[in-house]
Amino acid sequence: MELMTTDAEQNAQTLEPAEEHDKLFRDARRRLNKAIQYFPISPDVEEQLKYPKSSLAVSVVIRMDNGARRAFKGFRVRYDDSRGPAKGGIRYHQNVTLDEVMALAFWMTFKCAVVGIPFGGAKGGICVDTKELTKTELERLSRTYIEMIADMIGPEVDIPAPDMYTNEIIMGWMSDQYNRIKRGKYPGVITGKPLSLGGSLGRTDATGRGGMNVLRRLEELLNIVPQETKVAVQGFGNVGYHCARLLHDAGYKIVAVSNSEGGIYDPDGIDPYSLKKWEQEHKEVLAGAPTNGTSQPMSNQELLKLPVDVLVPAALENQITARNAKDIQAKVVLELANGPVTADADAILHERGVLVIPDILANAGGVTVSYFEWVQNQTGFYWELEEVQEKLQKIMEKATISVWETMTEYKCDMRTAAYVEALKKLSGAIEAHGTRYYFNLP
Ligand code: GLU
Repeated sequence: MELMTTDAEQNAQTLEPAEEHDKLFRDARRRLNKAIQYFPISPDVEEQLKYPKSSLAVSVVIRMDNGARRAFKGFRVRYDDSRGPAKGGIRYHQNVTLDEVMALAFWMTFKCAVVGIPFGGAKGGICVDTKELTKTELERLSRTYIEMIADMIGPEVDIPAPDMYTNEIIMGWMSDQYNRIKRGKYPGVITGKPLSLGGSLGRTDATGRGGMNVLRRLEELLNIVPQETKVAVQGFGNVGYHCARLLHDAGYKIVAVSNSEGGIYDPDGIDPYSLKKWEQEHKEVLAGAPTNGTSQPMSNQELLKLPVDVLVPAALENQITARNAKDIQAKVVLELANGPVTADADAILHERGVLVIPDILANAGGVTVSYFEWVQNQTGFYWELEEVQEKLQKIMEKATISVWETMTEYKCDMRTAAYVEALKKLSGAIEAHGTRYYFNLP
């Protein structure tokens, strides 16, 4: 017998998967909708920013070392390129989905706008656990992915870079593969390359350094005295490690650090340099590492709730949600990951007086030095490290102050202010081509 369903049930069946499949992207868009309430934009601009400009889903099929074929899902999404070529990293992670890549490409659009670099936003990803691949398999995967998306990228249209679980060696393979396909040398097609292949000095620690620049610029405004400020860092990869190390150098007290294997907490302080060494020698297990006092092991979730002054989520998205937002004790959250705080959690934290320094500002240092790398590639003239770091600091500090002033002016949270700042620039670029008001003039 055929099962009868009511309209409501049928609706639920068809709507649920659809709602699930773009959950992250919809959450990301909520921030934009909120910013529009403070800074109304022309309906034309809203239309332009509604959906990703283009999305490509590919099957990356490679031969494994044992001779078998295996297929991996790959994506590249270009969200918007009104302000310049689209820009954004490539993520390798077993949970990568089109929804996630769309959200990440959306964030890149606003990130580039808020710091004022002339790029739009894009992102790519492959659904893969890199720990399961050998190095030769990883190389084949990276080269084949570039073959699959080669028509979509280019130094003047869309410029990839590293993201989670991709690094400069992978960028080197990818850039080489692109050169082979196009039969030329196009160093500006990818950033985050090894120095010897046209990379920029200062790119490796740029995201962590930019985050440090933002926090330090706010010290006076937030009455932060580094020596009296306790910091917990979730994530000890390229971003979390360099931020922890640079904050430690500036006098901050790093009291907790974690990676995907778990974390370590010592209220008397941890030296990030020696902890990194320990991590490399102990198969990534941080627990038991020597610290300034007595340390205790800690889960990633516990770390978020510690009695610290500054919390730095530098790992995955969706770490602070409506479930744990009320337990956050930090006064400042410096978002070095993309999307670590959900929209619901944002509201709770804001109400509780916790200042969230938003991802699109706090972690923009990486893409800013990627921009410098691209400029150096396009001109063929390479800069000294000091020049890179000085220019980075200048851009990060200028953006921080603009966002702070907008926050004060609009009496909103800092994330909304960052979106407003970005919207001003995006609107300018989109409206420069004329709006419906212009075309309706007699
Ligand atoms: N993946 C980094 C980010 O999310 C850097 C992107 C880039 O350099 O293009 O900002």
